[in-house]
Amino acid sequence: MAVPAIQQLRVGAYILKQKLRGIDKYPLVLMLEPLFRCNLACPGCGKIDYEDSILNKRLSIEDCLAAVDECGAPVVSIPGGEPLLHKDIDKIVAGIVARKKFVYLCTNGLLLEKKLHLFKPSQFLTFSVHLDGLEAEHDRAVNQPGTFQRAVAAIHAARKAGFRVNVNCTLFNTMKAEDAARFFDFCSNELDVEGVTAAPGYAYERAPQQSHFLNRTRTKQLFRDVLKLKGESKWRFSQSVLYMDFLAGNQTYACTPWGTPTRNVFGWQRPCYLLGEGYAHSFRELMDSTEWSRYGTGNYEKCADCMVHCGYEGTAVNDTLRHPWKALKVKLFGFRTDGPMAPDIPLTHQRPAEFVFESLIKTMSSEIDKDPGRSVERKKRARVESSAA
Ligand code: SF4
Ligand code: SF4
Repeated sequence: MAVPAIQQLRVGAYILKQKLRGIDKYPLVLMLEPLFRCNLACPGCGKIDYEDSILNKRLSIEDCLAAVDECGAPVVSIPGGEPLLHKDIDKIVAGIVARKKFVYLCTNGLLLEKKLHLFKPSQFLTFSVHLDGLEAEHDRAVNQPGTFQRAVAAIHAARKAGFRVNVNCTLFNTMKAEDAARFFDFCSNELDVEGVTAAPGYAYERAPQQSHFLNRTRTKQLFRDVLKLKGESKWRFSQSVLYMDFLAGNQTYACTPWGTPTRNVFGWQRPCYLLGEGYAHSFRELMDSTEWSRYGTGNYEKCADCMVHCGYEGTAVNDTLRHPWKALKVKLFGFRTDGPMAPDIPLTHQRPAEFVFESLIKTMSSEIDKDPGRSVERKKRARVESSAA
């Protein structure tokens, strides 16, 4: 089982509590980005293309824990940038674990072995290591030879030290079904990780290489082709069975972005981890003042091809609660990989893309530049942290 029973029970109890209270929009996973700085520069990344004043910004320990308390989600995912570059990441993680929240620390693995001693194994902590395929595919995806070997060595070290480890993989249109199947075999058999989170890449408007993203139909066909090759393999995915079924083209799901709210150095990002179209000062403000119906496939041009878990895992979990027999049937009999696909949400009424990102960044930069002392101090700190990489 990819997610331990204790986690399933606690998350299940949390969802039940929300339902009993009559709350229909509730967070399942808080995406906490304590910094954008990274020690890689992957061509498919939409997170690191900021100017230095923003890359040098950090959320403090207090900011992070306040966000966790304010949001209340039972799971906290810490992406970035590279969270292990944050000098207080161990204290942030310890604070979240002390609150009995399940932390997924997402890392490219380059610093993991070196920093493992800062963390204690716990059922509440999982290292989610970014691998985009076997060696050649991964090193090409992150544009840095040797990265795969270092990440794999770090995974072995973390498993040996008793940590929960997960592999987080983004599929691009260069991935062949046979290669993806070999990669999942490798993760389950040789790396012996708890599970694999697999999702198609989102075409961030700021990602340098736009041609490598999958469109909706190609995503569904790729997942079908991969799942067809499963055979007797015991692949363990850490996403829900109905989200996987959605990726395989068997479910028509609308996005529920409030299921995974994002807190980063700018504030609470609207509407989701992938799209930065404005910021709220508090979690409550984000939930109450975001016009959610303006987003999601069919509503907004930028959402047309998105099938990423931060938008659709919450939808799948809700569907599982409403139709447990449907989920059980897929679990027992497997994913349908042939025949017609579930209809797509029509795009005829979607509103056109708005390009607000540049002006938002300018506003943030000017706010940061108004405080030059702090900025210089942060720059110095970032240089020290980067050179530690
Ligand atoms: S490791 Fe992650 S955050 Fe860093 S550049 Fe690559 S995709 Fe972006
Ligand atoms: S479909 Fe949902 S998760 Fe995807 S970009 Fe749009 S709002 Fe975000």
